[in-house]
Amino acid sequence: MLKIQNYIDGKLVDAISGASLPNIDPSEGRAYSMVPDSDAKDVELAVQAAKEAFLTWSIMPAEKRSAVLSRIADFIERDIQELARAESIDNGKTLSLALSLDIPRAASNIRFYATGALHFSSEAHITGNEAVNYTLRVPTGVVGCISPWNLPLYLFTWKIAPALAAGCTVVAKPSELTPMTAYLFSKLCVEAGLPPGVLNIVNGLGGKAGQAIIEHPEIVSISFTGGTVTGKKIAATAAPMLKKLSLELGGKNPNIIFADCDLKKAINTSIQSSFLNQGEICLCGSRILVERSIYEQFLNEFVLEVKKLRVGDPLEQDIQVGALVSEAHMNKVLGYIELAQNEGGVIRCGGKRAKISGRCEDGYFVQPTVITDLDYKCRTNQEEIFGPVVTVAPFDSEEQAVAMANSTTYGLAATIWTENLSRAHRIAAQVKSGIIWINCWLFRDLRTPFGGMKQSGVGREGGWDAMKFFTEAKNVCIKI
Ligand code: NDP
Repeated sequence: MLKIQNYIDGKLVDAISGASLPNIDPSEGRAYSMVPDSDAKDVELAVQAAKEAFLTWSIMPAEKRSAVLSRIADFIERDIQELARAESIDNGKTLSLALSLDIPRAASNIRFYATGALHFSSEAHITGNEAVNYTLRVPTGVVGCISPWNLPLYLFTWKIAPALAAGCTVVAKPSELTPMTAYLFSKLCVEAGLPPGVLNIVNGLGGKAGQAIIEHPEIVSISFTGGTVTGKKIAATAAPMLKKLSLELGGKNPNIIFADCDLKKAINTSIQSSFLNQGEICLCGSRILVERSIYEQFLNEFVLEVKKLRVGDPLEQDIQVGALVSEAHMNKVLGYIELAQNEGGVIRCGGKRAKISGRCEDGYFVQPTVITDLDYKCRTNQEEIFGPVVTVAPFDSEEQAVAMANSTTYGLAATIWTENLSRAHRIAAQVKSGIIWINCWLFRDLRTPFGGMKQSGVGREGGWDAMKFFTEAKNVCIKI
């Protein structure tokens, strides 16, 4: 069986203990590779390698750092077929999505920050004719990057690229559920000539390898993307150690649809924002709120389209919904569908595990599910489900739509559908989310701030925000 290895000090190595864990292909429900079950000893090795590498990487001219990162981006593009297939098998997502979204975006992340390194600059403040202040941006040191399973290489690179571009060295841990593309990526780093120790990848369980990264006293900053509960645990460990923290956490995103919208576009995009990647994207709109005058029409047309979605073998070309990442996650999603029914919800389509014949007969598939008739305050409408499940509810006024949208503890993303420009701006200002899309969804410009309000996170990624996170500002004041 294929053996994934850690990447420490430029070498591919097993966990020191020799322990490993089975890595499951969720579309078949069986182990197909082994992943190191690393612990604090492996993290220690990685930190020491990163510390040593920091001495040279942090002062290397930006052009050189940029050149290595650009080579890595080139290699990702060169190997897109292999990486996309690996991502699909590891995560359960469709191969077509991995080819069109995950892997191209991973290359863009690296390239974006490779060029970012060239353009990052200091600020200067002139204090009358008395003094000049200039602000240096110093890489913080060895940083920890922990990423989730839903967009494995995409989110892994989204963290490590700005860290490396800023001159930090990294100890990273992908989710143990989806370690494959980070492993393939480590080979590309070796090929591209990334100096040993600059990036170290320690595989294993969150509570063991992940926790050891968070607790390590020589790791000064932590960039984490994952669930809110894990984020709180990480903050509880890191805050007393006064580590810098960037937390990108869960969401329960509203999709607000007004009667004056372009309905066809709103329906087509809502299909995407509900079910892309099996609904396993933190930005998916899981609560669709529709103005009452078009509620029935929207619901009927939306359900009709959802029923047409093809669920099945993620490696097949015309499949739109693949497998959920794990059996445990599938059961969690099915549990929420049951909860919704107990809360009075009506299943308009889906609602069950999807049985696929052939290769995928034991895979973890769930039918795309639409639920109505739920109170907006019920648990189904308040808690993150993170699967192919969406609720639809009517509203009667702008005020009510905003109140419903803002009723959860989350505040990651929202979409607003209207052709009324004033209303679009008005609602965008009132909805408490870090990201608002008007008449679109998942349209991304990597320069913009990315992150959530309330329990959806702390801090922002993207653009200069990420470069600033991985650097300390040091102001130098010169009296004239
Ligand atoms: P988890 O919080 O379970 O895990 C995220 C990562 O943290 C994994 O690598 C996990 O390892 C690791 N981890 C778990 N426990 C610890 C710990 N005590 N110390 C250090 N690391 C730990 O999230 P999921 O992987 O289940 O991802 C889904 C969640 O991510 C959803 O809530 C989703 O909304 C959120 N997300 C947020 C995004 C955003 O940008 N705001 C983007 C994408 C997802 P392991 O898996 O090995 O246990």
